[in-house]
Amino acid sequence: MILVTGGAGYIGSHTCVELLDAGNEVVVLDNFSNSSRASLERVQQICAKRLTVVEGDIRDQAGVEKVLNDFGCTAVVHFAGLKSVLDSVTSPLDYYDNNVVGTHRLLRAMQASQLKRIIFSSSATVYGDPKFLPYTEDHPLNPVNPYGQTKFVVEQMLRGLFASDPTWSIGILRYFNPIGAHESGLIGEDPKGVPNNLLPFVAQVAVGRRERLNVFGGDYDTPDGTGVRDYIHVVDLAQGHVAALKSLDQPACFAVNLGTGRGNSVLDVVKAFEQASGRSIPYSVQPRRAGDIAACYAATDRAAKHLGGWQATRNLETMCRDHWRWQNQNPNGYGG
Ligand code: NAD
Ligand code: UDP
Repeated sequence: MILVTGGAGYIGSHTCVELLDAGNEVVVLDNFSNSSRASLERVQQICAKRLTVVEGDIRDQAGVEKVLNDFGCTAVVHFAGLKSVLDSVTSPLDYYDNNVVGTHRLLRAMQASQLKRIIFSSSATVYGDPKFLPYTEDHPLNPVNPYGQTKFVVEQMLRGLFASDPTWSIGILRYFNPIGAHESGLIGEDPKGVPNNLLPFVAQVAVGRRERLNVFGGDYDTPDGTGVRDYIHVVDLAQGHVAALKSLDQPACFAVNLGTGRGNSVLDVVKAFEQASGRSIPYSVQPRRAGDIAACYAATDRAAKHLGGWQATRNLETMCRDHWRWQNQNPNGYGG
């Protein structure tokens, strides 16, 4: 039985599908602060299999221990946390509480239950301003906002834990920019309020919920002047977790990038999305967004080595097509 914390969220729900499809049993622990139960109903519909849902908070150590013991969990895939860079700047203590205190309590609960296998959702934001590209896992870590700093602190906590007890198996996965949706169109990203991220915003323009995209910066030192990112299909990312779990059969503590190794600009994404949706995406170029970097993409060799040859296989066209199917079938997300 695998415990998936935050399993009702965007990446968690897609990972539940891949875990169930690979023959695992799954229990999800989620406080639904940024998700709905509907995503987990849909996961079960896609897989034609059941999973167990427990409403609860990772900061409740006794509650987590109870779940681990009641269900005989053998590993934890840990997604639960807050993820908005902007909110982290205005509410840093909430971010430290959820992401750092929450993970600390979860690890305590695991320790008390003698369970020592965990996959942790980290982020490319731990690297900060690029000293070189692509980012290798050995690139210096220098996160520049509270969100990234909480990921960095948790990574350090995990490394310290492994140093103290090398019987742990710890996989730290640094995600680049996950986009897209399951090809069924049944699950996808459903942000609350105005999306901060590019793809949900573009998709909401395409479906008519918003008038135009603001392109943040047209004067970067990139081929077309707009920001470049390493977009990865969320299903490739989810499959990376299944591969990472397999590799945790041996005690280890490793950090790997999950990206494609390719960079695409904002305007590349707009074009690909227009093609996928058959809709036009009006946009206007605005000043740069504070804190943004020009370009960011992953070195991918270490992931392939640690994750049994795993690599991302879906291209930008597929990412946009699948994202659009989800948005078009669910114009208001899980809200109907
Ligand atoms: P999400 O918000 O869709 O999912 C997170 C889930 O965790 C939600 O279901 C939320 O209700 C739950 N949750 C939050 N705090 C909790 C708590 N204290 N106890 C129990 N449940 C809690 O986010 P996502 O995009 O699926 O991201 C999952 C993880 O991956 C996060 O840790 C995020 O920081 C990390 N990550 C995401 C991205 C991205 O672009 N989406 C990039 C890098 C890293
Ligand atoms: N971006 C944009 N308009 C938006 C949202 C994002 O032009 O409404 C740009 C942003 O400046 C960056 C890229 O799209 O170059 C990806 O941004 P996102 O917030 O999705 O990811 P991150 O900045 O965390 O990599």
